[in-house]
Amino acid sequence: DQIVDIIGAGLAGSEAAYQLAKRGVHVRLHEMRSKKMTPAHHTDQFAELVCTNSMRSNDITNGVGLLKEEMRQLDSIIMKSADAHQVPAGSALAVDRDNFSEFVTKSLKEMPNIEVVNDEVKNIGDNYTIVATGPLTSDDLSKSIKEITGQNQLYFYDAAAPIISSEGIDRSVVYEKSRYDKGEAAYLNCPMNEEQFKRFYEALIGAETAELHDFEDEKYFEGCMPVEEMASRGEKTLLFGPLKPVGLETPSGEMPYAVVQLRQDNVSKSMYNIVGFQTHLKWGEQKRVFQMIPGLENVEFIRYGVMHRNTFLNSPGMLSGNYQLKDNSKIYFAGQITGVEGYVESAGSGLFAALSLFKQLKGEKLKVDPKTMIGAMGNYVANADSKYFQPMNANFGIVTPLDQKIRNKKERRQLMAERALEIVKQMEV
Ligand code: FAD
Repeated sequence: DQIVDIIGAGLAGSEAAYQLAKRGVHVRLHEMRSKKMTPAHHTDQFAELVCTNSMRSNDITNGVGLLKEEMRQLDSIIMKSADAHQVPAGSALAVDRDNFSEFVTKSLKEMPNIEVVNDEVKNIGDNYTIVATGPLTSDDLSKSIKEITGQNQLYFYDAAAPIISSEGIDRSVVYEKSRYDKGEAAYLNCPMNEEQFKRFYEALIGAETAELHDFEDEKYFEGCMPVEEMASRGEKTLLFGPLKPVGLETPSGEMPYAVVQLRQDNVSKSMYNIVGFQTHLKWGEQKRVFQMIPGLENVEFIRYGVMHRNTFLNSPGMLSGNYQLKDNSKIYFAGQITGVEGYVESAGSGLFAALSLFKQLKGEKLKVDPKTMIGAMGNYVANADSKYFQPMNANFGIVTPLDQKIRNKKERRQLMAERALEIVKQMEV
């Protein structure tokens, strides 16, 4: 009988434990809380939601909405608990956080194949293991992970600029050009006149920032200053920094007062990031202020900018689409530490890693199908550009496009979602 060690009973580890145990695998689930807390958790319950109680959209034409539906089909314990403990939140799925976590904890503790070990794991052993220790992985274990993955492959901080969908970008305003026409025109440029800049500037310095956690100040301004912090030092700091216009004349040859650049974020050009806009603004404020940039009035934010402590691997090339370590086939990673982002995404990757490991124990291999959201996430983590790897929410930009072209976004996504759910239904696990 194989024993599988799962390290961390958060969103990913709890889901993984459930999936393996219900298939008859003996699971040892290690959780350090109660003995040792993280800087963000408050309880000793499994699958604690450290911040908002929202699991975001329930609509299958939304990335995380589709992921949730796929997970329901795969009998996810996280989805079962979330659905059972909903509180009213419009079209979003929000939960009563205490009842949600209590249900997960109780369900897992009642499963005869799960042995809970209440301790901090400092080293990864020789057993089959799923490491699901999250964005706040303890220091000793981080050291041990680095020994396995290489010193520079584990990041501790996430300072990311927002990523937007290319669909809503107004091409009549925005133009393609790289500064001084050096290299290929990989950038899109949003020009501002003086008046537009001033309005944007005022909005930016007046915008509300997210609450800082005490543990976040250490590396806060090292090399990667939030755009609102730069703005607070004066207009010039922006005009000589990320909004510098030199070398970026418009196609008609004019020099704008300021330019915001967008950099292609994936091969298919469905996503762009706003260059130099790492930010600590609240998400609603990012939408309000950044949509003032000419050409971006109607864009969708695929990922908001964040600045917080976040332990994550440079997964591309290191993990397979099954979340398995390429150099050691007995070790899997799951959750935020792999570079997926969000509660549901973390649980989803835990589910996929567990099914993959289960298949491996049977001498089989689970197919990673990027037509499904759950497969697309694994595929993204394994194959994104490792030079610029950033954690990513579930979104349609990472899913294999349809064969036929359909202009209407909602209609297209509906078809992609139906295709994904059909594939998940046929999955043999
Ligand atoms: P976790 O849920 O953190 O689980 C990891 C578990 O491993 C923890 O229980 C921890 O105690 C345990 N552990 C760590 N080290 C060890 C060890 N050595 N031995 C044993 N156990 C260990 N996502 C959202 O969708 N919405 C949000 O609002 C949101 N807010 C966030 C706020 C903060 C401050 C942070 C840091 C992250 C936030 N996230 C949010 C991102 C992410 O979705 C959550 O962190 C999510 O909990 C990640 O799931 P996980 O399973 O990867 O990690």
